[in-house]
Amino acid sequence: MRIVFLGPPGAGKGTQSKRLVQRLRIPHLSTGDMLRAARDAGSPVGLHAETFMAAGQLVPDPIMIQVISHRLTQPDCAQGALFDGFPRTIGQAEALDEFLAENETPLDVVLEMQVDLDELAHRMAQRARADDRPEIIRQRLKTYEERTRPLAAYYQQQQLLRTIDATGTPDEVFARIVKVLDQINPPRRGEG
Ligand code: AMP
Repeated sequence: MRIVFLGPPGAGKGTQSKRLVQRLRIPHLSTGDMLRAARDAGSPVGLHAETFMAAGQLVPDPIMIQVISHRLTQPDCAQGALFDGFPRTIGQAEALDEFLAENETPLDVVLEMQVDLDELAHRMAQRARADDRPEIIRQRLKTYEERTRPLAAYYQQQQLLRTIDATGTPDEVFARIVKVLDQINPPRRGEG
């Protein structure tokens, strides 16, 4: 399966992605993790990206499209992939669609995590990342609203969008995700 996880920072995409890739045995493509690894390794892409990340802004599309297409050509992605934090702009979504169409491996579903703003601010304040300072959190939420939220309508038009109530415990949210996925792709007999 090819799944896109959509949702504001703090919605729990990272936590749920880790569980889901274990269940589905597909690679977890977190562009945030990739950029942090590139930054920590001191690569030119990583160092360039860091200036945007530190400010709570998006890394420019051409860089992101290059990062993700490179990753997608690796053999483990042949079985499927979970996109966590990509795409974040309409331009990225169009580039992804094009890439996947060329390879005849379209997306199966887009899961949009919905959680209210107060809960988001609270969850993010409990993390310890450099880009989780209050003013940067506000910037990241604003960036989400302006640049990424429009993707819900984009995928709705393609009839790929499913919304997930992301409030409650990680177990409760995961159960909702599994239920939605089972509706699209019913488990074969004998599988959990
Ligand atoms: P994340 O861990 O997904 O919250 O990403 C952390 C930061 O990396 C974001 O705030 C952006 O600065 C950058 N980033 C990650 N993924 C993308 C993307 N698809 N497009 C642009 N910037 C991204």
